[in-house]
Amino acid sequence: MVLTRTGAPLELEERPVPVPSDGEVLLRVRACAVCRTDLHVDGELESVRPPLVPGHEIVGEVVSAGAGVSIAAGTRLGVPWLGSSCGRCEFCARGQENLCDTARFTGYQIDGGYAEYTVADHRYCFPIPEGLGDAEAAPLLCAGAIGYRSLRMAGAGRRLGLYGFGAAAHLVAQIALFEGREVYAFTREGDRAAQEFARVMGARWSGSSDESPPVELDAAIIFAPAGPLVPAALRAVRKGGTVVCGGIHMSDIPSFPYSLLWGERVLRSVANLTRRDAAEFLQLAPRVPVRARVETFRLDEANAALDRLRHGDLTGAAVLIP
Ligand SMILES: [Zn+2]
Ligand SMILES: [Zn+2]
Repeated sequence: MVLTRTGAPLELEERPVPVPSDGEVLLRVRACAVCRTDLHVDGELESVRPPLVPGHEIVGEVVSAGAGVSIAAGTRLGVPWLGSSCGRCEFCARGQENLCDTARFTGYQIDGGYAEYTVADHRYCFPIPEGLGDAEAAPLLCAGAIGYRSLRMAGAGRRLGLYGFGAAAHLVAQIALFEGREVYAFTREGDRAAQEFARVMGARWSGSSDESPPVELDAAIIFAPAGPLVPAALRAVRKGGTVVCGGIHMSDIPSFPYSLLWGERVLRSVANLTRRDAAEFLQLAPRVPVRARVETFRLDEANAALDRLRHGDLTGAAVLIP
């Protein structure tokens, strides 16, 4: 399924099976989850160069490999958003390959997993833990791994707010509860289904994002791409608390009084992920165990899945099965 023009629906195209270059593996895609970023790829992000195959939460099976790769055919691998980094810039040298000046991203600068086959640099792929189905493993690769990075950036506070209770939040909530924290979930006004879903997933409280939680929060993570949630979340966290913006795109943040930031509150973004984040998260996930709530779609139903996500009509994560 190909983005041929910015803002247009994806188009089903027949293409030859790609050939892996040196260091790459050819994967038969078994599942690819739909991420909110895939909505932004079709309009709100710059530097998208159509034609592009979106999709960066790929579970695939190795078919063949290019020179320099010794991974057996049949091995199940996950392909995340970070597709490559330079390994030499000051960010890479500091262990911040997520900030690499010339990093390339799957389903953004590299054709991704809305396809039957894809190629990936094997050094950025991950073995998928046994016991996880293809469809339920796929959302762990971005929603889960970037959610995990966001949770680490939020600090160890006990009372955690999650703004936007979709694919990422429902995975992060499971880790937070496993770690003995309390989860407070915020959704769009009147989104009873998401609020109910949050409570089913163990949230102590759920409500609309303009409501005050029953307690002051230690930290909050914002997954919904709405700038007005930033002052709302700052208002909900205690002095010294942290607000993490976990998405790649957000509408403009309205101005707000300095008093909301005062008291050593911290506001930060999380950009992309490192291989270490994904490896740590995939190691932790089976111990929790993290269970993704998924709704599967055929590959040629990708536009329908994206529409459902755009309109907030999904509970959990959408996954394409070629
Ligand atoms: Zn993503
Ligand atoms: Zn670099």
